[in-house]
Amino acid sequence: MVTSHKCSFCGGEIPPATGIMYVKNDGSILWFCSSKCRKYMLKYHKDPKRLKWTESYSRVR
Ligand SMILES: [Zn+2]
Repeated sequence: MVTSHKCSFCGGEIPPATGIMYVKNDGSILWFCSSKCRKYMLKYHKDPKRLKWTESYSRVR
């Protein structure tokens, strides 16, 4: 069975067999569609709602 994941940062769909899995210290699993998303979340601690290229960007004005 093949399952696809959603990027934990930008919310975009990750095709099966791609993406980066990251296991946190507490055992929860994060998925990232690209190293860019992983870097923004883990290194820069950015809020995806404030970045225009993410799915979770707030389009409400
Ligand atoms: Zn992403």
